[in-house]
Amino acid sequence: MKAIFLDRDGTINVGVPKYERVSSLDKIELLPNTIEALKVLSTLDYGVFFITNQSGLSEKLITLNQFWEINNNILELIAPTGIKILKTYLCPHAEDDNCECRKPHPKLLLDAAKEFSIDLQNSWMIGDRPSDVMTGFNAGTKTILVKTGVPTVESDKANFTTASLLEAVKFIQKIANGINLN
Ligand SMILES: [Mg+2]
Ligand SMILES: [Zn+2]
Repeated sequence: MKAIFLDRDGTINVGVPKYERVSSLDKIELLPNTIEALKVLSTLDYGVFFITNQSGLSEKLITLNQFWEINNNILELIAPTGIKILKTYLCPHAEDDNCECRKPHPKLLLDAAKEFSIDLQNSWMIGDRPSDVMTGFNAGTKTILVKTGVPTVESDKANFTTASLLEAVKFIQKIANGINLN
């Protein structure tokens, strides 16, 4: 299958700079056009995954149970769009842990590719940080940087940079329909 790998915090729900860590249920706040974006995305022929760094686990800010409670809550909020998140892939480590799975390492995407037979070249990684773009780049996907986190972010490795997830999904929809963007 072709896949769309979505960062979660800052891409689906509000993350930095408002919430440095989404560490409790009261910090779950969907971004303004997430619902509309996911409605469009649910009509496209892609398997959709969450790829999330959660250093709050390593920092003991949240437990694994709390992480899944928060994640399930987000999945419930977006379920009415028709989107099905096939799996949430998680790195529970902090940068200092020097693990192999933390974005921008490509491991979580490579794991998904193995598990779901994903054609990475025709897949996309979308996120609000340059490290999300680098994750896709390192795994061999196409990439979109969304400016829904820190507004000044840039990445010269991004195939596209968009103001929102909705705009990103519409790009992918156009490309899927064979419309030349140039
Ligand atoms: Mg993010
Ligand atoms: Zn890790």
